[in-house]
Amino acid sequence: MSADMSQAACAGMDVNFFFDDYVDNRDMVHRVCGSCPVRKECLAEALESNQTHGIWGGKATHERREMNDRQTNRVAKARRHQIRALLGTGMTRAEIADRMDVDVRTVRRALTGES
Ligand code: SF4
Repeated sequence: MSADMSQAACAGMDVNFFFDDYVDNRDMVHRVCGSCPVRKECLAEALESNQTHGIWGGKATHERREMNDRQTNRVAKARRHQIRALLGTGMTRAEIADRMDVDVRTVRRALTGES
């Protein structure tokens, strides 16, 4: 993480406030995170390291899971679009798989919408 975490609005706070997701302190935690100068970096770190507990970057676990799901769907959609474009050039599924450095099954799944 490149951000200076000493700037974090939660510096010096009891970290337990950030791990009791659904209790009375939730609104307070969101206010603290809302004013935090390293909020983006904190959230990015949580998403990259797949944190499954607590509030990071102002987002609770279920909110981060929804963000990850949306990102996964965007990647799958982009992959499907790329594969269809390559199919349109006359490439075979095997050639496309080779070009994209994936196996043929991945190409087939992308086209059928399977994950
Ligand atoms: S965004 Fe992250 S670093 Fe900033 S206050 Fe919230 S939990 Fe702390």
